[in-house]
Amino acid sequence: MTDTPFEMGPIRPVDEADSLLIRTTRGCPWNRCSFCTLYKKIKFSLRSVADIKQDILAARDYFNGHPFETCFLQDGDSFVMGTKDLISVLEFLKKAFPSLTRISSYGRAQTMAKKSLADMKAIRAAGLNKLYCGMESGSARVLKNVKKGITPESIIRSAHMAKEAGMDMTPFIILGLGGKELTKDHAIETARVLNEISPDDIRLLTIGVKSDSDLGRQMAAGRFTLPSEADIIQEQRLLLENLSGIESHYANHHSVDLLLEVRGQLPEDKARLLAILDRFLGLDPKDQINFTLGRRLGYYQRLSDMDNWLTYDFVERQAQKIRAGGESFEAIFHRLRIQVI
Ligand code: SF4
Repeated sequence: MTDTPFEMGPIRPVDEADSLLIRTTRGCPWNRCSFCTLYKKIKFSLRSVADIKQDILAARDYFNGHPFETCFLQDGDSFVMGTKDLISVLEFLKKAFPSLTRISSYGRAQTMAKKSLADMKAIRAAGLNKLYCGMESGSARVLKNVKKGITPESIIRSAHMAKEAGMDMTPFIILGLGGKELTKDHAIETARVLNEISPDDIRLLTIGVKSDSDLGRQMAAGRFTLPSEADIIQEQRLLLENLSGIESHYANHHSVDLLLEVRGQLPEDKARLLAILDRFLGLDPKDQINFTLGRRLGYYQRLSDMDNWLTYDFVERQAQKIRAGGESFEAIFHRLRIQVI
């Protein structure tokens, strides 16, 4: 909850930083993914159409007619709402904020697959024109291991339906989610599914395993091995290398990602993006640690920032202190990743 006179959920996608946020549901209707603790303390509930409309009016007054162009519907899955209810909310929202050109929401593949194509087209016609999908992986084995509750087939089916209805689609992929054990399967199968659905945007996230998550407990028990930062970049290289025949914007865009400069349009930027990954992989191990530490501590944004020898030396002195202390760099990098997710 916030100080605003309308409800707000805990998160929104990075790309929705400037968007109006309207909460249609609370929590996540699935809430079982082994890596996710986001909504563990929130019991899932649908909000009534009347309450959502009241919030829309409160937001309009609160923002004093601000001409928002984009709106994101929170929380985990607006498609759980009945189609008529969702359409009624969308129509009301567009009347209250006539400047909106994009309305987006998270949508679980399994929930969307229960809607008919006619439903999806009607929802699109009412204004919802962008979907964020927590796909995480295209590997059936990884999806099963992390209890995602979706399959590659349901992802492909729901994505095709959303596209046919005219919605833009942005899947999120979590690098490292298969652990060291399934890294190749995760990369290759994710590329296969992305090639099938040809999304408008592909957003990469890097794994951070919280100790109070199921996956954290599996890791502590030795049943999941966290890949190193270099392993994760290698995995991303394999994924990107296998993307073909699609026209998608591909981006590492969250601060949890190591190489934020890996972003561009496929297919034309593919060679450039691979070259960035190769530049990191080609660094000697000491420089890989220097870059990763500097990036995770906020001294570097891009690989070329290492060319500033003053910053490089400063980071190197931090690295030496860590070496003297004896803690593993990978443990520190992982801890720093968890702090930003
Ligand atoms: S990852 Fe998404 S679907 Fe899974 S529990 Fe978290 S919010 Fe729900």
